[in-house]
Amino acid sequence: MYVNNKKKACEYIGIESFEYLMDAGTSQEELLSLIDRLNKDSAVSGILCQLPLPDHIDEQAVINAIDPKKDVDAFHPVNVGKIMTGNYDFVPCTPAGVMELIKESGIDIEAKECVVVGRSNIVGKPMAMLLLHKNGTVTVCHSKTADLAEKTRKADILVAAVGIPNFIKGDMIKPGAVVIDVGINRIAPKKLVGDVEFESAEPAAGAITPVPGGVGPMTIAMLMKNTLKAAVINHDREAE
Ligand code: NDP
Repeated sequence: MYVNNKKKACEYIGIESFEYLMDAGTSQEELLSLIDRLNKDSAVSGILCQLPLPDHIDEQAVINAIDPKKDVDAFHPVNVGKIMTGNYDFVPCTPAGVMELIKESGIDIEAKECVVVGRSNIVGKPMAMLLLHKNGTVTVCHSKTADLAEKTRKADILVAAVGIPNFIKGDMIKPGAVVIDVGINRIAPKKLVGDVEFESAEPAAGAITPVPGGVGPMTIAMLMKNTLKAAVINHDREAE
């Protein structure tokens, strides 16, 4: 689903995309050699490796092999470090999409209590940093957090990135809060739900994102934005 949506978005806006579907038995060396080739290919501005990878492949080694200037997912340690300092080229697509939703909805982050549930490298941690850069007061919660509901009820802006269907209920939400549901959970062949129980949360929230159709499409849009930026960066680099 993710890969197809990315390909469709590229086609829609006029970015040529190349898909390298590799067998599950592909060795790490073969994968790294492909990445090396794409790093050197001036026709390629952006590279992403769709995670997760099979167990025999070291995911971090693969991420590390991608040229940071072509790393449109922003997972390379160089780009992760830049996000910490606030001086970055690429932002991970999902947190970037959440920030764009907040901005376009005219919601001010400064001085707000922001609670992020989930601390993954892909979503929770960068999400917390981006909110912090916009002067939110940020709490990051995870599976070992004590009394989670007490934390979430303080949130003016609540971001759920847990991966458990309908995990955040209406009674865990401060009345009027902005609720952003990053979760995408397939509970039946044709039924996707978020990490927030929409039916109970919607009456409590001041604003809420749906699943599907909320953060998911924004993630793809931000991937396109990163790819365009990568094209400019790599064009400038070649011109030097
Ligand atoms: P991970 O599984 O990597 O991380 C889940 C996080 O949730 C962990 O930090 C974990 O804590 C925390 N968690 C798990 N159980 C609890 C609990 N009972 N209470 C509090 N925290 C808990 O998931 P991702 O961050 O990759 O993804 C999260 C969700 O977002 C998934 O549904 C995924 O499909 C979706 N997603 C959506 C995208 C989009 O485009 N909309 C893009 C990427 C992801 P701990 O660290 O302690 O284990």
